[in-house]
Amino acid sequence: MKFKKRADIGKFLSIRVKDAVCDLYFPEIIDDLVRFTSEFEDFRILSGGSNIIAGDVKKPVLYMGKAISTSDTDDVNEFLVRTFMPSWVSNTALLDYSVKNGLSGVEFLAGIPGNLGGALYGNAAPAGYSWDDVATIIYIVQDGKIFPLVPEYSYRSLDNKPDGCFVIYGAELILTKDSPENVRSRIKDFLAKRLDIKGPSAGSLFKNPKDGKAGYMLEQCGMKGFSVGGAKLSENHANIIMNTGEGTFDDFCRLKDIAVERVREKFGVTLEPEVQFWYD
Ligand SMILES: Cc1cc2nc3c(=O)[nH]c(=O)nc-3n(C[C@H](O)[C@H](O)[C@H](O)COP(=O)(O)OP(=O)(O)OC[C@H]3O[C@@H](n4cnc5c(N)ncnc54)[C@H](O)[C@@H]3O)c2cc1C
Repeated sequence: MKFKKRADIGKFLSIRVKDAVCDLYFPEIIDDLVRFTSEFEDFRILSGGSNIIAGDVKKPVLYMGKAISTSDTDDVNEFLVRTFMPSWVSNTALLDYSVKNGLSGVEFLAGIPGNLGGALYGNAAPAGYSWDDVATIIYIVQDGKIFPLVPEYSYRSLDNKPDGCFVIYGAELILTKDSPENVRSRIKDFLAKRLDIKGPSAGSLFKNPKDGKAGYMLEQCGMKGFSVGGAKLSENHANIIMNTGEGTFDDFCRLKDIAVERVREKFGVTLEPEVQFWYD
């Protein structure tokens, strides 16, 4: 398997952290995943890189952002199809596929960057939507073995993930037959409700706490547009983390810590990051 020592991974991250480096492995076939997970117990996975802020990463990183298998579709009945979709497929490509083939079920992904693996890992969806109804089986590679998992999801979480490090290789999706026009029109509706985020970003910095909205709390603490070095909270939405150009890992960490502290002081709530911070 190809491998790059101390690779600069800033360009793989949608927020473009200036000083993000790691040892990066590029699997090409499923055997590479089997070998990698047999060799390493503790590792990280980079896919679309739209939910990660990384620094000097010590653990080996597996890059799951390129083709290592193909999709496969068959009919369940006259209304439903079962599709195996590999995890490297981008959300945009999955939406194109669903329009082209008149298959409904993943329209809620419209406007969310990244790849299927990242979406399945973090239950990426707009408020009120979840992967529960669509992903019936996730295929996992762990400790050199491949096995299926029936996923259970809650807000931004795959609840029954295996203990330890694992790779999502792909998933079986159950999609409903529809017309391409209907699927396209629903995608447009989802896109129309999205925030317009311009510039390098990793989306929402914090998860919403149980009783409240992280964005509202941050705004009440005067954090809209707040910056530390090149790290900044959006002027339009206080929970959107941006890079003004030269943001370093340290800038993002300091900004996050200040935001947590201010919200804790004002509301007595400890916000939990939605973005993955890769410290080690
Ligand atoms: C502008 C913007 C808007 C966004 N809007 C939303 C939104 O509306 N809703 C929402 O939920 N999210 C949103 N996000 C966050 C992000 O796009 C999603 O979390 C996305 O699904 C992450 O996918 P990715 O491929 O980029 O994953 P990455 O960022 O590469 O990885 C995210 C996590 O998933 C793990 N992972 C990735 N692939 C695999 C795999 N194959 N096997 C095992 N683990 C894996 C990684 O190790 C990491 O822990 C937004 C981000 C941005 C930049």
